[in-house]
Amino acid sequence: FKEVNHNPVRFLHALSKERLEILSADRGFLFELEKVWQQFDEYMRFDADGKESNGMDGFDKKQPIAYFSMEFGLHEAIPIYAGGLGVLAGDFLKGASDMGLPVVGVGILYRCGYFTQKINPNGYQEEVYSEFENHLIPIKEKHLENGDPAFVDVRIGDDTVMVKIWQIDVGKTQLLLLDTDIESNLPQHREITNELYTADRERRMLQELVLGIGGIKALALLGIEPKVYHLNEGHSAFLIVGRLRQLMFDKKLTLSEARAIIRASTLFTTHTPLIEGNENFPTELVKKYLEKEVKSLGLTFEDFAKIGFVGDNKDTFWLPAMAIRFADYINGVSQQHERVSKNMWAQLWPQRSKAEVPIGYVTNGVHRGWVSENYTKIFGRYVGPDYIHRGQKEEVWQTISNIPDEEIWQAHRRNKQDLINFIRRKLADDVTARGYSQAKILKLSRLFNPEYLTIVFARRFATYKRSTLILTDKERLKQILTSTTKPVQLIFAGKAHPADFNGKNLIKDVIEFSKDYGLEDRVIFLENYDMNVARHLCWGADVWINVPLRDMEASGTSGMKAAMNGVLQLSCLEGWWIEGYNGRNGWAVTAGQFYNRSDLQEMAEAGQVYDLLEEEITEFYYDRNEAGIPEQWVRMMKESIFTSCQKFNMNRVLDNYMKQYYIPSKKETDRLTADKYKALKESVSQESQVLKYWDAIKLSAFTTTIDKKLRLVEDDAVEARCSLNVDNAPPELFKVELFYTFSEKTDYKIVPMEFVGKEGGDAQYKCTFSLTGYGLQNINVRVKPADKTIENLHPEMLKWID
Ligand SMILES: *Cc1c(COP(=O)(O)O)cnc(C)c1O
Repeated sequence: FKEVNHNPVRFLHALSKERLEILSADRGFLFELEKVWQQFDEYMRFDADGKESNGMDGFDKKQPIAYFSMEFGLHEAIPIYAGGLGVLAGDFLKGASDMGLPVVGVGILYRCGYFTQKINPNGYQEEVYSEFENHLIPIKEKHLENGDPAFVDVRIGDDTVMVKIWQIDVGKTQLLLLDTDIESNLPQHREITNELYTADRERRMLQELVLGIGGIKALALLGIEPKVYHLNEGHSAFLIVGRLRQLMFDKKLTLSEARAIIRASTLFTTHTPLIEGNENFPTELVKKYLEKEVKSLGLTFEDFAKIGFVGDNKDTFWLPAMAIRFADYINGVSQQHERVSKNMWAQLWPQRSKAEVPIGYVTNGVHRGWVSENYTKIFGRYVGPDYIHRGQKEEVWQTISNIPDEEIWQAHRRNKQDLINFIRRKLADDVTARGYSQAKILKLSRLFNPEYLTIVFARRFATYKRSTLILTDKERLKQILTSTTKPVQLIFAGKAHPADFNGKNLIKDVIEFSKDYGLEDRVIFLENYDMNVARHLCWGADVWINVPLRDMEASGTSGMKAAMNGVLQLSCLEGWWIEGYNGRNGWAVTAGQFYNRSDLQEMAEAGQVYDLLEEEITEFYYDRNEAGIPEQWVRMMKESIFTSCQKFNMNRVLDNYMKQYYIPSKKETDRLTADKYKALKESVSQESQVLKYWDAIKLSAFTTTIDKKLRLVEDDAVEARCSLNVDNAPPELFKVELFYTFSEKTDYKIVPMEFVGKEGGDAQYKCTFSLTGYGLQNINVRVKPADKTIENLHPEMLKWID
């Protein structure tokens, strides 16, 4: 099973006929098999309060939430993921299955998937792309009702490309995967879905056309009519083109009507805290492949291209910008990331203050599948087995503190021993390829010690993750590692992006440090960080370290996986850890926050990491009671488990998405589409009127009663008035509101102003509001379209008083 990378299909193929025959008569084996089958069957039939059979909040299998992603991390045997984004998407589908939430995933089946990492004798990463036998994974061809295999065609420039649809069942959730590697396609088209995150920009764009446009066609072919479209990152934004075609040709809507429907039913989740890191293509390339399609929608390419521009630059087309302009719902993936994303994309709403940029957040979480078997047993016993369906409920997790110390510590020791065994096996394989002698390998694999405090740094080797921060003072680190009474060992793992030479150099630095300082028994680099390596590491580590650069870690999820297994965090207060850290469940690296220069930050933070290791972490870990249990440490482990299981499990994430986004989005879409699009058509029919008068209207004569007061006190009522010069425009086309910021401009409230009559060509408005908060305050008035749908279609229509 290990040899086939835990792939059950390959495993079955690898068994001989004789072996299968023996097993089919082995009563012990059949008994075990029956138990597993029953458990699975029970899971598949679970239906909380009949919710699934009745449809959940109006969603059901035919009208689900469509979840589009470039990558899905389901299992190590299906290498169609690269890192955190994909693992999140995979966990999302698994969580949806647990909760009975009707979701259909849409992605790509890559022929080679992502690369396998090898480290050459010089310490450099090399990438190996190998075709994985995608018919030997748990996947099936999708068939139509008449039994024919399901295909759609996608127009790529002047050609038509056939796309085959596959399906993976993720528990109760289905994942549709698109594939162009079929015989009837031209060779260059067969290669489109060759590898994930190809460096070839042109091929990458074609992949994203297949994902977006092909994905929409695939859903339609299968009779699935999603209520909400969730874009996990910008890669799938071309689905908007597919939807425009569908709504304009099949449903005969106008462009504005189609846009309004798409906006109301789209949620875009951004993950990348730097604009440059977001998906973009030269506008010329987009033109080459999309001009025809866009023209057939009745648009010029120039008009279309504007939806992908950021600022004045017309040479680059940004997919996230396109997604944002077609989504009423946008979110980041932690509270901190919401703020970072608002700053980053504020330029798309130049008329608004940053606080008002319409980006919210849902902090990421991880699926319970990341809980090790040893802890799953404990949770089953002390938390109760139904936690798998009700993980979003706080009270479910309160029993964690009742678990006896011995059980927690024993479970952890077993996990750690498993990790050491795994490392010994894997290391022998890895370093053989690096040219080490057998004698040395044997020595190495014995030296790694399950009793030593073990720290893991496992994540992508991207510069911002600062993988080598802990190597800042190599002598001091060596002393910590080689302490005779409180020894420490350090494990690194992670891939660098094939084009990221800085990242590759960091891997080399780690390997060289270990060699040059004679620490090969204390510091190791494990090759090919994937879901399997990740699982072993986040089960068996004592401490999980994460020291990213400020504002660069959107959320981070590996720490959550580790924390669920009682591993303690040693992490900068970034991403999820800002929300997770409570002073009792791990350590926060904060020393850098007083510096603005990154080199000074790094020095300060490295110093703090060493201090914490010397003064607290090793002290607590090696401080044992008579039973050999580190009591203080185990107390922290329980806190860590509680925090992660309660706040960062996937059920909570899905619950947030449901309440914050899916349900409101579905309600609004239903409202617009009911009675043959009655409300939609009514709203959009005002658009030309609003546009016609927009330039001419003007606010003036803004007064408040503030000036009449001697002293301003919180809760004081203030009256405000203003007038709107409407000429002959009907005032009901517009709404006027007061915009009031307080608490240093980070908080605001919007007070609608009441139309009180007309004087000459001016409409008069007034309102009263109460003073709130403290600090700098600011009051202003503004006008926008009265109709919510028109307002959403035209975020640029917002006029302040001059
Ligand atoms: C969880 C996971 C990640 C994401 O981890 P971060 O904490 O976001 O760096 C990346 N790769 C694999 C294989 C994972 O399992």
